[in-house]
Formats: sequence, C-alpha cells, structure tokens
Amino acid sequence: FLITFEGIDGSGKSTQIKLLKDFLQSRGFEVLSLREPGGVPVAEQIRAILLENKNEINPIAELLLFSASRAALVQAVIIPALEQRQVVVLDRFYDSTVAYQGYGRGISLERIHQINEIASFGLLPNLTFYFDLQPEDALLRKFSEKSLPLSFKDNEIPLDRMERAGLEFFQRVRTGYKELVQTAPERFYEIDALCSISEIHQKVVERIKTHDFF
Ligand code: C5P
Repeated sequence: FLITFEGIDGSGKSTQIKLLKDFLQSRGFEVLSLREPGGVPVAEQIRAILLENKNEINPIAELLLFSASRAALVQAVIIPALEQRQVVVLDRFYDSTVAYQGYGRGISLERIHQINEIASFGLLPNLTFYFDLQPEDALLRKFSEKSLPLSFKDNEIPLDRMERAGLEFFQRVRTGYKELVQTAPERFYEIDALCSISEIHQKVVERIKTHDFF
C-alpha cells in the first residue's frame, strides 16, 4: 500500500508522517517512510545538488533531476518494499512535480505527465494526503518559528521583492495542488493544514481506517 503526502513547504507533512508511521507500527504494520527527493544515496546526492543550486538550475534541468532521483528511489526501494507487503509512506511524489515544476515553473503539463510516468515506473499511490495551506500562512509560520515579531495582520506581511516573488510562486503551486485534487478526488484527501497537529493526525487515521489493507 502506497501513501503519499503533499503540500507546500511548511504545511506539516513530516510531522504527520512521523505520527502515522508510529500509529501503523503500533498496529503491527511494517512501514517504510521516505522523503522525496532522497531515500537512496544517489537520490540524496541529487537532493543536495538541487538545494545547493536552487537559483541557477533551469526548470527543465530541475524537472529531470527530481525525476532522476525518483526513478532511483522507486526502482531500488519502493517497488521491492511494496512487493514485500510493506506500507510505504512518501513525503512527496509525482504530484509535487506537477505542482512545483508544472504550475510553479510553467513547464507544460503534458511533458510533466510523460516524465512522471517514466520516472515512477507507472506506480500509482493508493492514497494521497494533501495539506492545504495559504502561502501567507506558511510564511507566518516560518516567522513565528524564528520568533520574529508578528505585529502585522495576514494580508499585510511586509515583504521585499524576492519574498513577494516567492509568495506568487507558492500561490501557483497551491493552485496546482487544488486542481490535482479535483482531477482525482477518490485518491486525494485534503486536510486544512491550519488544524492542530492532533486534529490532523485524527483525520489521517480515520481515512486510513476506511481502506481495505487496514
Ligand atoms: O519539502 P521538502 O523538504 O521535501 O522539499 C525540498 C525542497 O524542494 C523544497 O524547498 C520544495 O519546495 C522543493 N521542491 C521542488 N519541486 C519538487 C519537490 C520539492 O521545488 N517537485
């Protein structure tokens, strides 16, 4: 059974993945949780390249690097784990590519879908949790984590030009996710990322319990 988690940066995926993993293990499941890009040495190195060269890599190169990392992970780890009947929990999968490189960077969705199909070896998640968060709220979260003063209201965040461009990028990414959810409502389960950690965990568990494997 393959479960993926999606959402913009700061939407709380990794916290929930940890909680879900503990929950499933407590119920006797063998769980493998992995983050994308990463999970195997080749893919971790590609992750480092992507993060270190964020501003120099062109969108197509970025798409191909993310996809190369995915292909390595899927073939070496994910497919064998699924064959051994493990529950695989992924922090990001190809929906991220549609949202970030497609909607965010503007690469045609047709190209994205072709490459996604190749890089995932045709593998389809059984269930995808999408944590919906406005980019403004993600930014506020980041500020509060750094204990910066929060003396402004939601729509009055003081931003410089770069930050404003970043916000617009994440708005496009969010639009992409929203449209993805519409196109595959049976696979996606959308959760408001502003809910509390325990509320979100509860929703995740309730949804998991409706599936046959559980
Ligand atoms: O959220 P995570 O730490 O896994 O993502 C690492 C970085 O890669 C984030 O800044 C995220 O925005 C970016 N990313 C991306 N395109 C993807 C997946 C992640 O730009 N397809």
